[in-house]
Amino acid sequence: MGYYLYDVNGYVGDLASNYGLTLMSTYVRKVANEPQVKKFFEEGHSPVTKELIAGFKAIHSPDKDIADTIDNLVSLLVKCDTVAIISDGTGIESPDLTIHRGTHEIGGSCVELCSNSGDTRIIIDIGLPLVNEDMSPFDWGIHRKSTLPQLLGKKILPSVNGLYENDKPTVAAVLLSHAHLDHYGLLRFVHSDIPIYMSVGTKSLAEVSNVFLNTDVKFDRTETFEMWRTFQIGEFTITPYLMDHSAPDASAFLIEADGQRIFYTGDFRGHGRKGILLDRLTKDPPPHINYLIMEGSMLGRDEGLYPDEASVEEALHNLILSQKGLSYVFTSSQNLVRLVSIYRAARHSGKTLVVDLYTAFVLDKLSVISKNIPQFSWEGVRVLYSYYHAQKLADLDKTLLYKYKSAKIEFEEIRDKPNDKVLLAKDSRYCRNLIIKLKESGKATAIFSMWHGYLERGNLREFLESNGVSLTEIHTSGHASIRQLEMLANALNPRWIIPIHTFYPEKFCEMFPNVIQVEDGETFSLC
Ligand SMILES: [Zn+2]
Repeated sequence: MGYYLYDVNGYVGDLASNYGLTLMSTYVRKVANEPQVKKFFEEGHSPVTKELIAGFKAIHSPDKDIADTIDNLVSLLVKCDTVAIISDGTGIESPDLTIHRGTHEIGGSCVELCSNSGDTRIIIDIGLPLVNEDMSPFDWGIHRKSTLPQLLGKKILPSVNGLYENDKPTVAAVLLSHAHLDHYGLLRFVHSDIPIYMSVGTKSLAEVSNVFLNTDVKFDRTETFEMWRTFQIGEFTITPYLMDHSAPDASAFLIEADGQRIFYTGDFRGHGRKGILLDRLTKDPPPHINYLIMEGSMLGRDEGLYPDEASVEEALHNLILSQKGLSYVFTSSQNLVRLVSIYRAARHSGKTLVVDLYTAFVLDKLSVISKNIPQFSWEGVRVLYSYYHAQKLADLDKTLLYKYKSAKIEFEEIRDKPNDKVLLAKDSRYCRNLIIKLKESGKATAIFSMWHGYLERGNLREFLESNGVSLTEIHTSGHASIRQLEMLANALNPRWIIPIHTFYPEKFCEMFPNVIQVEDGETFSLC
């Protein structure tokens, strides 16, 4: 049997085995001069005072096992907040964790926590899968028209009681870490009486996706949270932490309940434009983390050519500057950090960035979170209208079409003067037609500024080559490198690490000694 040290905030660290504790307490009671030290073992708890710590430090045993156990106890006592409690863990209250999806895959994240009393259940993220069971790419288009019971039957919707529209709602809230579809793409099926918590930036992006990506999220019961400001959902106390990720305003969550402290990282990295957030978090981590639920997207993946966003911007600049003709840059309109890099690279090369209406709308909506996000009204930004995007925007609010009109650019202007233009592109039928139509305006180059895997899935490279457009990849990942995963885990120093959002959870075991691998759907007591 093992013994652990707790304080008022919950678990602090592993203390000793039954045998080790008996050895230590027998020895300490015999030789200790400090009465508080003896009392600590008699009663199993004590206020943490200077005298208590000094009393233990003054004890030196010739037996190495006892000396090591005392050293360990002292190192834990200094971390305790006001009291120290010795416990074998029985009778300790603990929330239950169920990772409905994500223990063996990237995408489709869905995590449930249930308080010890069973009174409060929360769901963190409810994403669309990125792969099918046979690991082939998941295509939502095939299932879009399926009913809720059909989606449950096909296991696309994880089986969670009291969460969906067809059920009596018993889930207290859904928390979203960020606005990537693999974290919130199934939100439309959540019962409309269940409140949804998200950051302001996540909400703004989700609203844009409702217009252009038909995500159909209902915002009637949305609550926005502020980073680092603690809030309560039933028996859970939650503190969001702003994280560096390719989605803006992404958060991790510190979740406290039943004396346990859980840190859910969401997706994160430390090499984007907000990389300093990871530095700050590792320098001043929240203490006493019992369980770290950590993403591991980059395990088993090539880290790529570019180590950070700064090197991406430099490479974009060098390529765009040297290019005599039109430059296409393929990227996600929701990767704001990358849009900033592309805008800066274009401007520093004396060129104009041409975006579509969808991107102009994203930039406009996200101006609420930062004044540094390029806008349609900025010098060097023009907006190319397409019928499809104009229609979508008009359905939402016709005045937006007039709003962006001051920056509107016509196709002919790009065709006649392509050399000073950088055109934000997508692998869509519309863009492919545009590229074919612009062939007559001279040699063009394309930059693929997204995850390499997307390029592998289609035939974009072949299409571009057949139209005389050369392709260069310039990208850095939205996810933490192995070094950054280690940095965060070492700083948080949790009792246990639970891998999520990875195809290779077993690789965590090679990196850390304290890993618990759970299975999708398995309920695990976080004691
Ligand atoms: Zn993400």
